[in-house]
Amino acid sequence: MTYKHIKLPQGGKKISTVNGTLQVPDNPIIGFIEGDGIGPDITKASLRVWNAAVEKAYGGKRKIHWCELYLGEKAAGLYDGDYFPRETLDAIKDLTIAIKGPLTTPVGGGFRSLNVSLRQTLDLYACVRPVRYYQGVPSPLRKPEEVDVVIFRENTEDVYAGIEYASGTPENQKLAGFLREQLGAQFFEDAGLAIKPISPFGSKRLIRKAIQFAIDHNRESVTLVHKGNIMKYTEGAFRNWGYELAKEEFGEHTITEEALYSEFGGKQPPGKVVIKDRIADVIFQLLQLRPSEFDVLATMNLNGDYLSDAVAAEVGGIGIAPGANISDVVAVFEATHGTAPKYANQNKVNPSSLLLSGAMMLEYMGWNEAADLINAAYPKVVGEKFVTYDFARLMPGAHTVSTSAFGDALTAKITGNADDLARFEQERREALEQERKEREAQRVANPMEAMRASGRRPMTAAGIMSPIKSVAASATVEEAMHEMRQNNISSVLVQPDGSGQWGIMTQRDIVMKIVGANKSAANVNVSEIASKPLITVAADLSLPMVSQTMVENKVRRVVVEANDEPVGIVSETDLFHIVEEFGWEPEE
Ligand code: NAP
Repeated sequence: MTYKHIKLPQGGKKISTVNGTLQVPDNPIIGFIEGDGIGPDITKASLRVWNAAVEKAYGGKRKIHWCELYLGEKAAGLYDGDYFPRETLDAIKDLTIAIKGPLTTPVGGGFRSLNVSLRQTLDLYACVRPVRYYQGVPSPLRKPEEVDVVIFRENTEDVYAGIEYASGTPENQKLAGFLREQLGAQFFEDAGLAIKPISPFGSKRLIRKAIQFAIDHNRESVTLVHKGNIMKYTEGAFRNWGYELAKEEFGEHTITEEALYSEFGGKQPPGKVVIKDRIADVIFQLLQLRPSEFDVLATMNLNGDYLSDAVAAEVGGIGIAPGANISDVVAVFEATHGTAPKYANQNKVNPSSLLLSGAMMLEYMGWNEAADLINAAYPKVVGEKFVTYDFARLMPGAHTVSTSAFGDALTAKITGNADDLARFEQERREALEQERKEREAQRVANPMEAMRASGRRPMTAAGIMSPIKSVAASATVEEAMHEMRQNNISSVLVQPDGSGQWGIMTQRDIVMKIVGANKSAANVNVSEIASKPLITVAADLSLPMVSQTMVENKVRRVVVEANDEPVGIVSETDLFHIVEEFGWEPEE
């Protein structure tokens, strides 16, 4: 491909993909776009740090060959007023990975935001924001070190799709008429109208990326964020499609949160990612109160927009948050703040957002050692209170330094203490692993408490069932009673006898069929008084349906079945405790 203004560097090789997997050579060509306003300052400083980290990590064996690409004001100067030159888009596709500074949205003239245009033109459907705490950074949380989440936000659908009709326009009236007359919808006169499309295709491709990321990076869980209790067919569908996808495409690598408790007793099997979901408003609370419960989040567009900034604010604000927009293959990493034009060319602002986006880019390329050096050096420099003006005003006694001096301090740390830094990052990982084990121990020891703490409300039979105990069909009632007393349970399953059927014996059977019939518990076999066949429900049956099954069959407990085997029991008392504990709201 030949370009008018873009010059591909000599000696570099393009990144390619094979079956959707990146093939990164040791000398990849990567595109960078300086951006407008403060963009050139932060880009210059960051390039030096990235290069130093790669050099230190690989001793010259690997090197990035940077290729400048143009968007925004610099592009307009070169391409006769074109802020969004075609060849830049072609080059990003050709090079696969690019990193960019902020861009001014030209005012007037009907310009769309260049960032939005870039996402749409390249179909960068996943906005990825890792949010973690770096020691030393000012934070409003008491334990900010518990924040370590990666948010995957859908970028193309939802109320952002631009299907919107202003109040009073003919289009609005036409749509309002259709909704009222054809579909019986009711709403106030002159309401502005917008459509919220959420498709299986759009949802699944985003959730697929989130789950794949969690698997590749040994993450603990993926949480589907939604407001499905209110918007059932958009937000609720997003959740349902997420679970469906996890089961169909990642069945080997994932388990649901229900199964974590019901099948695995709270112990996370090695190599499995837990898929769970939370209502959007609940997760806003939980990410402040119990951030360690969350790991990778998959969200629709609007929820993700709010959530990304809210979580970033917990660990230093959006000024330092890194980010990327990713398609199936192409990835554009970016500073998440704007161009702050009043600080342009003053060598003053904080380069962290772009700098850490670069660390994220190195991880995306699989160059984790270089990313680790940056991630570990960063808190050391900030911890020494060697910071730009924005942090300095929040940190008493800080040294205020320029953009370039901050970059130089990082570079010095990286080139000076690489071994120390690698150990530091390793220690952080070990601390996270330790926390993970503690959470697991809590789930195993006290599942109900863990459930409450994690903001989860059980929805299915598997979520509230108690483990079963069974006795042989030939056991006497007395032996079975001994088993019941020892385990503090009010019923036991009776294993199949000659009939091949399972049965259940309850305290009530003993009262009625032993005491009431004046028989000896020592001489009667459990199979003689057990109820058969079992009234069973599927593990994933919803709680209202479980309850209906009990009412219809006039029983006080049902057996939960999975793969034709009884795996647990749900009793009236269990259902009562759930209502008492979590309240009860009608389900969809
Ligand atoms: P902004 O550029 O993000 O700046 C708002 C304020 O945030 C600045 O005045 C400054 O606060 C602080 N800030 C931003 N970046 C900083 C950094 N690197 N270091 C320290 N402080 C930083 O937001 P804006 O003024 O609303 O937008 C300006 C232009 O940027 C607009 O044209 C907008 O369209 C564009 N924009 C682009 C992107 C993008 O390209 N991704 C994103 C958002 C906005 P203090 O004044 O308190 O020091």
